[in-house]
Amino acid sequence: MSSSHVLVLNCGSSSLKFAIIDSSSAQEHLSGLAERLGESSPQIKYKFNGEKHVVALASGDAHEIAINKLVELVKTLKLDQQLVAVGHRVVHGGEHFTHSALITDSVLEAIKQTATLAPLHNPANLLGIEAASDAFATLPQVAVFDTAFHQTMDPTAFLYALPYELYKKHSIRRYGFHGTSHYYVSARAIDLLELDGKPSKIVTAHLGNGCSVCAVKDGKSVDTSMGLTPLEGLVMGTRSGDIDPGLFAYLVNQLDYTASQIDTLLNKESGLLGISELSNDCRTIEENAADGHAQAQLALDIFCYRLAKQIASFAVPLSGLDALVFTGGIGENSDVIRAKVVKQLEFFGFILNDEQNLAARFGSEGIITELSASPKAMVIPTNEELVIAQDAAKLAQEQ
Ligand code: ADP
Repeated sequence: MSSSHVLVLNCGSSSLKFAIIDSSSAQEHLSGLAERLGESSPQIKYKFNGEKHVVALASGDAHEIAINKLVELVKTLKLDQQLVAVGHRVVHGGEHFTHSALITDSVLEAIKQTATLAPLHNPANLLGIEAASDAFATLPQVAVFDTAFHQTMDPTAFLYALPYELYKKHSIRRYGFHGTSHYYVSARAIDLLELDGKPSKIVTAHLGNGCSVCAVKDGKSVDTSMGLTPLEGLVMGTRSGDIDPGLFAYLVNQLDYTASQIDTLLNKESGLLGISELSNDCRTIEENAADGHAQAQLALDIFCYRLAKQIASFAVPLSGLDALVFTGGIGENSDVIRAKVVKQLEFFGFILNDEQNLAARFGSEGIITELSASPKAMVIPTNEELVIAQDAAKLAQEQ
């Protein structure tokens, strides 16, 4: 039987998530995380055959050494023979990449050029690509972009009302992120609701540390809440989401902020953490809100209000709504947030089924509104790694 195992790599600035996935059966054979790369006491944690292991690396060891260790591990576990490709998550593909791409010199060059749009992410993704291309020299390498799914957006949705020249000369526009996740859960929803080949109007809400919603019409992204960077849109763990752009001048002129301080404020000190002055972690916020912590309750209320408002606004590009899908750590597990959001959207026709909502957690898939009601709200656990594995196996086969 021919093999379709893919090594999936998601390389961050100091971490490397990896998995070996059978792209045909969706079975995960190995999964793990190399963390604190380039820092003190880096390590690789992995799970194989249900057992967890930890391998210590030397202080300062970075991506290349971690990937070489991973190669050794894959060989020792005898998983190397079945590999058909390496799939890389790449955050920003700009306007260049509308689909996943087999990595060639010109593709690599285009990813490098796009790095100006994602200076925190693409350089780390490139480190992973370069190290894996050396370590697995005989395997095709494939890049799967977070932005690609949103390249079907119309200029009406993706342009800012800024001087047009900024778009033409500097590519400043809305791109959107979490595309692989929005694609996966919307495709699953279309399947589950038996809307394949029929018109469909779905809003997907990816709620993790970063949060975004996407309007998916007939399987294609027509609008999304994130923009040029993953800061735009919803309230997130530590990110503010939408704010009045006039705030920038105010912070500079009145409070002597620098650009980099504003960047830190909006990306790392705001959101659930900023409002609650407690935590960016949704579980902690929920627990404290339940215990009567007023700012935790306020953080939760603002998070849900802004999310519901954004979802409702996507009825415009969709001209209606068939389904709302929750995914990501919060979307998959927090019955509290799902209930608050669905209740604020009851005027669409949603009728929450409390029992189903409470039951949907820990990786289960299902409808959480009354089956007789329309639209439906659903929980669908995301699986970005599987999409990366499937795209990589497909492109490797086609080459
Ligand atoms: P990332 O975006 O880093 O992949 P995740 O998708 O894992 O993050 O989501 C992390 C978020 O999910 C955290 O805010 C965490 O508190 C939240 N979360 C996980 N489990 C629960 C739960 N049972 N109830 C509420 N929130 C949860």
